[in-house]
Amino acid sequence: MEIIGVEIPPLNSHEILVRNEMTTLCRSDIATYSGKRIESTPTILGHEVVGRVYEFGANASRTDLRGTHLQIGDRVTWGIFASDPASEMSMRGMPQKGADRFKYGHERLAAGKTLHGGLSEFMILRPHTPIIKIAEEVPVPVAAITNCAVATVAGALRLAGSVKDRRVLISGAGMLGVLACAMAREAGARRVGAMDIDAGRLDMARRFGADHTIKLPRDSDPPIEVESVNPNTIDHRNSVDIVIEASGVPSSMEKTLEMMAIGGIAVWIGAVSPCRPVNMQAEHIVRNLISIRGLHNYNTEDFRNAVEFIEMAHDAFPIRELIHDHFTLDRIDEAFRYAISINPFRVGVRL
Ligand SMILES: [Zn+2]
Repeated sequence: MEIIGVEIPPLNSHEILVRNEMTTLCRSDIATYSGKRIESTPTILGHEVVGRVYEFGANASRTDLRGTHLQIGDRVTWGIFASDPASEMSMRGMPQKGADRFKYGHERLAAGKTLHGGLSEFMILRPHTPIIKIAEEVPVPVAAITNCAVATVAGALRLAGSVKDRRVLISGAGMLGVLACAMAREAGARRVGAMDIDAGRLDMARRFGADHTIKLPRDSDPPIEVESVNPNTIDHRNSVDIVIEASGVPSSMEKTLEMMAIGGIAVWIGAVSPCRPVNMQAEHIVRNLISIRGLHNYNTEDFRNAVEFIEMAHDAFPIRELIHDHFTLDRIDEAFRYAISINPFRVGVRL
């Protein structure tokens, strides 16, 4: 990481300049920093971010996604992508995969592609970026996680269909997992279970609404036998209607598939880097009418639902406690090292 000063270029007609307030280091930023994921460089990392409108381009939209009028100084959150709403993928509800989409915090710096990352004092938002004015009552660190972690979980719940009165299991109790516990609980799930290797994270999952927890052994590969049955808990066959898989660990994906009841839906959001193939009993999937759905990032509707969840529930769950935000941009390497070595739910960088 290197801190450099650049001139803010004049805004194009439809662009908006934002003064960033805080960026939280997402797993993908940490993977890039530690070399597990390759991005073209030089770049500005950071996409889980919140800031305030600083300047409008001459013809930039003054209306946010909810129809609220935008003014200079408003606190806003924005999607991690700018994507043409008329593209085929956008029309099919997948703007994050549109051919022309621009992803903040992931692009190589070049002429016309500058100030696009959250680890910077300013960011330029392009046309077709979903923007929402977020309530001032939401604490800044909580507002920061809205446009990646919370929106991704909102997308997972959309793909799961209604969770009302359903038995939901969350696999992986990191940031996405504990948020999934809270969102499933708020959406009326009958039972919310959480599964992880870390007892502390499972304790946190309970504070986010989980009523059952399953502690996995630390070395959880090869697959775990699920037949150790307590029929009153979530840990047995045919006991789960909906799985949100946030761990990305193949043995966990296998275990949760075995636990699914007839008609179950598994939404996989954790496996964002290469892992060994997942073994499954195809007959079990077919005979039990089980669906597996994958989600990477989120769409505009998910983003809006994420903001609405955060505005409603930021006080109802200890979300603020998940973010360790004592770093500033001049200590960015220290912030990354802290994220890697201490591994809190999130590390925030004040800008
Ligand atoms: Zn992210």
